[in-house]
Amino acid sequence: MKATAPSEHKQSQILNRKKVETLNLFESTQLIIKEAVQKLGYNEDMYELLKEPARILTVRIPIRMDDSSIKVFTGYRSQHNDAVGPTKGGVRFHPDVNEEEVKALSIWMSLKCSITDLPYGGGKGGIICDPREMSFGELERLSRGYVRAISQIVGPTKDIPAPDVYTNSQIMAWMMDEYSRIREFDSPGFITGKPIVLGGSQGRETATARGVTICIEEAAKKKGIDVKGARIIIQGFGNAGSFLAKFMYDAGAKVVGISDAQGALYDPQGLDINYLLDRRDSFGSVTNLFTNIITNQELLEKECDILVPAAISNQITEKNAHQIKASIVVEAANGPTTLEATNILTDKGILLVPDILASAGGVTVSYFEWVQNNQGYYWSEEEVAEKLRKVIVNAFERICETSQKNKVNMRLAAYMVGIKKPAEASRFRGWV
Ligand code: NAD
Repeated sequence: MKATAPSEHKQSQILNRKKVETLNLFESTQLIIKEAVQKLGYNEDMYELLKEPARILTVRIPIRMDDSSIKVFTGYRSQHNDAVGPTKGGVRFHPDVNEEEVKALSIWMSLKCSITDLPYGGGKGGIICDPREMSFGELERLSRGYVRAISQIVGPTKDIPAPDVYTNSQIMAWMMDEYSRIREFDSPGFITGKPIVLGGSQGRETATARGVTICIEEAAKKKGIDVKGARIIIQGFGNAGSFLAKFMYDAGAKVVGISDAQGALYDPQGLDINYLLDRRDSFGSVTNLFTNIITNQELLEKECDILVPAAISNQITEKNAHQIKASIVVEAANGPTTLEATNILTDKGILLVPDILASAGGVTVSYFEWVQNNQGYYWSEEEVAEKLRKVIVNAFERICETSQKNKVNMRLAAYMVGIKKPAEASRFRGWV
């Protein structure tokens, strides 16, 4: 490894083009990768290799709709770096899916897999569509069409998809069936997040929230906060946010605020989470049943010990970061805090647990699912939970140590830990 740092001129190229606050997801990801590569002493060639996915496939998928018309959908599959092993990452069905986002998310998957020490590189896929406006039959035909379109570059030892925004275990089941038909053998290891009867893992549904819970416990220890009785605010009440609220409530924490796309609820005495869980709909909405709601932005600035953004990106920015009262911010969502806000929170002494660590529980249990499929031997929910805890605690410690040793914030530390494995694997393979 050559310890030549990129020139000052090159380092600031991205920054010069745009103000940090206006960088898109892909550009800000590249910016932190550049810093991490430099801090680790790799040369410019390593950055050139890791700054973009190794390959991205764009596909056009013609689907017969229920009214007999043909609609052609656009989909993507991005594979960032496969030096460590097969690539791994979810498939998103959403109207806002675009190539830049899929590329950035595949890089994040490489980082997540690396900090949790999984034998994978990062991948990601998506289709531009609105599943809320499609019938069951149309969704099945689209899922199968996507697998046919990308079948050459995916597989249990090449690239393993999983659920992501607006995709679920039923969609994974259709995709697995289509792949098995193409290959003419049963291929449960082709995809994770499947229903249990098709080789899904116990604990997969709650894995992301469990990972976040473990990060909260570890961060609370560092800050000398007792989780029992701690005041917690969770933005978003979907898969990640609602299971997390339940785990925290059961652990004796006081969940003082929750929110969804319509608004937020805040009660300093603590909310009745079991009641809210009973009343929420399948899209994670519950606040529409109440009249005393506040806005999502107001909620983020309320008094609490622990704040968990678990909804969408760009929620904590330079505009509101100064008003955050929490001692700990744990990013369950992807990209909820901008780079400038990250610096503001760190300067305020807030312990920020970055997204690529906090939300890594899902891919970790996906890996467990793949291992169980390959072995044909299945584990209990307790075994899965115990193994997950070891992985996340270990990752948390490595990132904290890196942060302290190098005097960098937790996000940059996570990128430094995350870059190392694909970088070393690429070097040993003689790619750079
Ligand atoms: P979800 O669709 O199940 O729930 C999203 C929640 O956010 C809902 O309660 C919704 O009402 C709320 N929401 C939507 N728009 C909002 C807005 N503008 N303001 C406030 N709230 C809003 O999604 P999820 O699976 O819980 O994912 C939430 C976040 O966690 C996403 O950023 C996702 O990428 C990330 N994540 C999830 C997983 C997972 O396994 N579910 C894994 C890794 C990362």
